[in-house]
Formats: sequence, C-alpha cells, structure tokens
Amino acid sequence: MKKAIEVKKLNRKIRNCKKCPLWRTRKNTVPGEGPANAKIIFAGQAPGSEEDKTGRPFIGRAGRFLNQLLRIANIKREKVFITSPIKCFPPKNRKPTEKEIEACLPYFKKQIEIINPQKFILLGEVAFKIFFSGKKLKDFRGKFIKKAGKEYFVNYHPAAGMRFPRIRKILEKDFKKIRENLKDF
Ligand code: URA
Ligand code: SF4
Repeated sequence: MKKAIEVKKLNRKIRNCKKCPLWRTRKNTVPGEGPANAKIIFAGQAPGSEEDKTGRPFIGRAGRFLNQLLRIANIKREKVFITSPIKCFPPKNRKPTEKEIEACLPYFKKQIEIINPQKFILLGEVAFKIFFSGKKLKDFRGKFIKKAGKEYFVNYHPAAGMRFPRIRKILEKDFKKIRENLKDF
C-alpha cells in the first residue's frame, strides 16, 4: 500500500482512539504531519493546548521556537515528519504518565514502520527514552548515534529552551551540528 494511504489510515485509528484517559479531555488528536516518505522524523513529547485546538503538531510557542531551530539547521519544515509519541493533550500540560506513553506508543511505532526514515531527531526525555531506555539524555545529547541502520540525534525539548537560556544556547548550537550532518544528505 502507498505510504500516504497507510498514514491516513493510521490517523483515522488515532482519531477514534480511547486507549488511555486522555481521550476524554482532548479536543483533537495530534498524529503529526509531514510527507509519508520523509527521511527525517522529529519527535517531541505531547501536544500542547494550541495543538489540541487545531490537531497540528508544534504550532504553539514551542513550535515557533522549533521553526527558528529548523532555520538554523537549514531544514524546510514541510520536508520532515514532525510528531510526538503522545497523540493527545495532557491537561494543564502535565507530563504524560508511563501508562499513557505505553498506551500510545504503538501509533508512533507504526508511523516509524510506515515512513521508515533514515534519521531521527529526538527532542527531550520522553522521545529519548523510547529509543534509549535506561540511558541518560545528557550522555547522548548533541551527538549523532548510529543504531541498527538508523541515525539518532538527541536533544533537549524546545520548551525547555524557552524556559532556560542556557538550554536555548545548547539547542541553537546543536542545530548547527544538524546542519553540518545534513550537508551531503
Ligand atoms: N510539544 C510537543 O512535544 N509536541 C507538540 O506537538 C507541541 C509541543
Ligand atoms: Fe489514544 Fe494516545 Fe490519545 Fe491515549 S493519548 S487516547 S493512547 S491516541
């Protein structure tokens, strides 16, 4: 089946999902967006309230900062697939629970299976732990890591960069590394 059709089918499943309590308070599911044949997947944490209102990923404050970072990396937003492992807004922006992450994870895994990207940019702890369970983000941050034929770049979440100037600087520096990495990609 064509990738784009598979993604659409999956989005429909997500839209009807009631596998964890977050379905009760969501306005819209936020499956993610981008080309179904994207070579890079960006993964954050969970939708915020702007995303909940519109069903689109990273369009609120953190999203605008991500757009700035993408510019630093010389990446066109519409060329990459942008998503979060959690597809519904956790009320008051609280951290998703382990149970919610576990319930939602099959959707993210399925997106990966369909899109089959070459690279992942992991933004923050939740995305990091999915691929590097039991490891510490700070030991991996800012490096490209090859694992089972894929490449991973681990970073802080843009929302943390907006709160802490020190982290903002690190993110900006790291997105220059992404630009370097993608030069001949
Ligand atoms: N933060 C995320 O992790 N994902 C979004 O879609 C928006 C904010
Ligand atoms: Fe389903 Fe995920 Fe939404 Fe929970 S967060 S209801 S598992 S789509």
